[in-house]
Amino acid sequence: MSNWSIEEAERVYGVSQWGGGYFQVGENGNVHITPVPENPSIRIDFNSVIEDIRKEGVQFPVVVRFHDILRSQVAGLNKAFRKSIAEAEYKGEYQGVYPVKVNQMREVVEEIVDAGKPYNYGLEAGSKAELLTVLAMNTNEESLTILNGYKDDEVMRLALLGRKLGRRVVVVVEKYTELLLLVKVAKELDIDPIIGVRSKMTVKGRGKWESSGGERAKFGLTITEIINAARYLEEQGMAHCLKLLHFHIGSQLTDIRAVKEAVTEGARIYADLHKMGFELDYVDVGGGLGIDYDGSNSTNESSRNYSMQEYVADVVYGMKEMCDLEGVPHPHLVSESGRAITAHHSCVITEIVGEIKSNAATMDTSAKEGEHFFLKNIRELADTFDEQENMHEVYNDASQYKEQALDAFKLRVIPLEELAKIETLYWQIMGRLQTWYRNEEYVPEELQELDYSLSSQYLCNFSVFQSAADTWAIDQLLPVVPLTRMNEEPTVNCSLVDITCDSDGKIDQFTIGREITDVLPMHPLKQGEPYYVGLFLTGAYQDVMGDMHNLFGRLNEVHIYSYDDDPEDFYIEEVVKGSSVEDVLNVMQYNPRAMASDVKRLIDKHVWDGKLKPREGVRWTDFYEKCLNGYTYLKQSK
Ligand SMILES: *Cc1c(COP(=O)(O)O)cnc(C)c1O
Repeated sequence: MSNWSIEEAERVYGVSQWGGGYFQVGENGNVHITPVPENPSIRIDFNSVIEDIRKEGVQFPVVVRFHDILRSQVAGLNKAFRKSIAEAEYKGEYQGVYPVKVNQMREVVEEIVDAGKPYNYGLEAGSKAELLTVLAMNTNEESLTILNGYKDDEVMRLALLGRKLGRRVVVVVEKYTELLLLVKVAKELDIDPIIGVRSKMTVKGRGKWESSGGERAKFGLTITEIINAARYLEEQGMAHCLKLLHFHIGSQLTDIRAVKEAVTEGARIYADLHKMGFELDYVDVGGGLGIDYDGSNSTNESSRNYSMQEYVADVVYGMKEMCDLEGVPHPHLVSESGRAITAHHSCVITEIVGEIKSNAATMDTSAKEGEHFFLKNIRELADTFDEQENMHEVYNDASQYKEQALDAFKLRVIPLEELAKIETLYWQIMGRLQTWYRNEEYVPEELQELDYSLSSQYLCNFSVFQSAADTWAIDQLLPVVPLTRMNEEPTVNCSLVDITCDSDGKIDQFTIGREITDVLPMHPLKQGEPYYVGLFLTGAYQDVMGDMHNLFGRLNEVHIYSYDDDPEDFYIEEVVKGSSVEDVLNVMQYNPRAMASDVKRLIDKHVWDGKLKPREGVRWTDFYEKCLNGYTYLKQSK
């Protein structure tokens, strides 16, 4: 009997490791959510969420947003800065901004702005469309609006419109010529801009985004350019407009040392500019605060070796130390953490719609008169398996017979049916080898692949390209776990494949008990009982970067708020419908209405010609239209 337990489930799936305090495996084997860490009495069972989604008639896959998690993260970051600032007796304040590019969904930005109000938490924009959004959304005059990215004349004017409306819009100069443009437009409109300069840092963040830093970085001014910029502003009588020093050395900084180095370098630049007479008010340390996607709390690419509080403390103390040494005032601190604010709040829930078992089909392999000796040989190997002494040799022989048989088939030496028998026997032998080697300490290299080649693939009703773009694009690890049944031992090792017809549409990298593996232990599927899995930490970037590969559109969304007085501790506040087939066709320039009438005309013609009964014709016409209006993903059969 197995000694499976909830603790074992925790060890395998690491839910508490990557869950950031929000997700745990409950005693009943379901994933539980505690969206407000200070109030652990609010505890939501994921199974109740699934039941409510079904009751609402919302089709899977679904994006579930926990608004309380978003609020908790905003409060958490601000409180962390307040704590370190108080402890360090730091003289400046924290004035963070949320970079909307990480998740621009209106409901997300609204919630962040609302939760950030007590802290004067602001917004950051990196493009014209984002600036237009941020100008409308960030109505708090005390908070900052930071503008990064490349800018044209219109962007400069929009920023100055913000100034006119009493907003604290900071234009961060990414490239020297932008400064000239900004000064020109500001003089023309006679509006004082608030100017920031982005420094090209010599420190490089380690990890996937390391090219955001260093001398070849795409953005930022060199030290020489920063000094020239300051002098130019002085000449133009605008030195008082230069208020902020910005740097951003990359996203998902895996090693805290990069943060420390960047803060030291940035603080030095700030201090010397101050001593040169340019008294900046703010230092903006950019983004980069990482998320522990694989739960290893290490410098793995999908992890980080520090906590939010450690990151914050290093920024505050690092800045204080340098400023005190240099005898300059402590600047206000700005950070642009996006990933850390949004990653936890949303996940994708989908059901497994089938199992693809490699090489599981079998057939009668009994001997027949006149069969080829390859088949005889491999059958004999299978029959004498238990008497064999050298299992590695068994593997080699079986593999050789199979390869030779395939060649023989192509050369018309053996017929299709014999080849099928050879394959069946081959996979039977591999299955037995897998069991045999399971208890061995040493497994030859070519046999280590056996687990993977014999593993199942669970077919998930979703598209990697729409919902987990980074797992495909940059091998980002995202936690995937079953949402229920974790009190049962997961006995099926499988990888996950999506429903696109792209062979890249798969997830085959997981962290299991701290090791990276290519298969995920899951539970056997039961007839008539849906099996749901959750893809977690999709709130940053994944939510908004997906594409419509194969015309799979945006997902249905369910917005969840916790509510202590509710028996289930939550309610669904809003359901946002995902794309219909019609929606995605419109994006691709089709006219679904016209398509429907074309198909109707064809059907009518068949009715006229007597090939279809009129009632049948109407049914097919209605069916085609219903599918056009429907969801792009697979519908569960009832
Ligand atoms: C992308 C970006 C951010 C957000 O970074 P995270 O690592 O998600 O916090 C912040 N600032 C700038 C300039 C960026 O380009």
